[in-house]
Amino acid sequence: MSDKYAVVGNPVDHSLSPEIHARFAAQTGEDIHYGKLFAEKGAFTKAVARFLTEDGGKGLNITLPFKGEAFDFVDELSAEAREAKAVNTIVLGADGVRRGHNTDGSGLVRDLEHNCRVRIGGRRVLLLGAGGAARGVLGPLLRREPARLTVANRTPEKAAAVVDQFKTIGAAKACSFADIDADFDLIINATSAGLDNETPDINPQVLGADCLCYDLLYSLDAPTPFVDWAQGHGARAVDGFGMLIEQAAESFHLWRGIKPVTAPLFAHYGRTASE
Ligand code: NDP
Repeated sequence: MSDKYAVVGNPVDHSLSPEIHARFAAQTGEDIHYGKLFAEKGAFTKAVARFLTEDGGKGLNITLPFKGEAFDFVDELSAEAREAKAVNTIVLGADGVRRGHNTDGSGLVRDLEHNCRVRIGGRRVLLLGAGGAARGVLGPLLRREPARLTVANRTPEKAAAVVDQFKTIGAAKACSFADIDADFDLIINATSAGLDNETPDINPQVLGADCLCYDLLYSLDAPTPFVDWAQGHGARAVDGFGMLIEQAAESFHLWRGIKPVTAPLFAHYGRTASE
């Protein structure tokens, strides 16, 4: 029988993860079945515990709004999950231990460096947002040693708390959108404003020459609001589709010990990658 995996979320209907992992499995010859697991808010632990015990599940991806609950649920944490205080991948070991990982940051960095051909080290980086996704990517970004990293958030106190949480990894500045006082080479939108068809309220003067704007939100149909905003101001902009693919490949690797090639997935969805 195939090993069982699933993505758990609320909502989860829209998730591309089952199709992505089916394609990774076909490519690598791994015998897995990957489904969708809807959990009512407040019922995450029950749904996930049942999947991993009674239903024979071997692992899970976790999406909105459960990454924090997954952090509390697991027995052991990777360094990335511990520093992000969020888990997006659970691996059930043969020993029954539930290990929590966070592949969002490595997925973003891989997409930026490998697919978008953008250097992070030595560059001026602006991270918009201070929620779970921002916490997941901040550590991996700081480890690349940018020349400057600013975290700006609608609620600036949350930006300050996140910067403080990561200060042992690297220095960053926290501020409100209105107080961003420089221009940048790379601007990463880790807010969820786009889900409400909005963009963070930032001044276009923050766009440096040759700036890349990267929206964690992705859309297969039309540009996301932030991509639209950036392109409207003459900047190069990409959405988070590549991050989705790359973080999925990292999860697959954690479960199966084999890293799928991601370029065919980009081609399948009409995108380009650099592999
Ligand atoms: P959270 O709910 O944890 O955080 C939301 C953040 O967005 C907060 O900083 C919040 O600010 C800010 N925000 C919300 N609405 C607005 C607005 N109208 N204007 C400005 N800021 C706003 O969400 P996540 O961090 O989990 O997710 C953020 C985004 O990242 C989502 O769009 C998600 O889809 C995407 N994502 C993409 C992934 C991928 O693989 N491509 C992986 C993970 C996430 P405040 O603190 O003031 O409330």
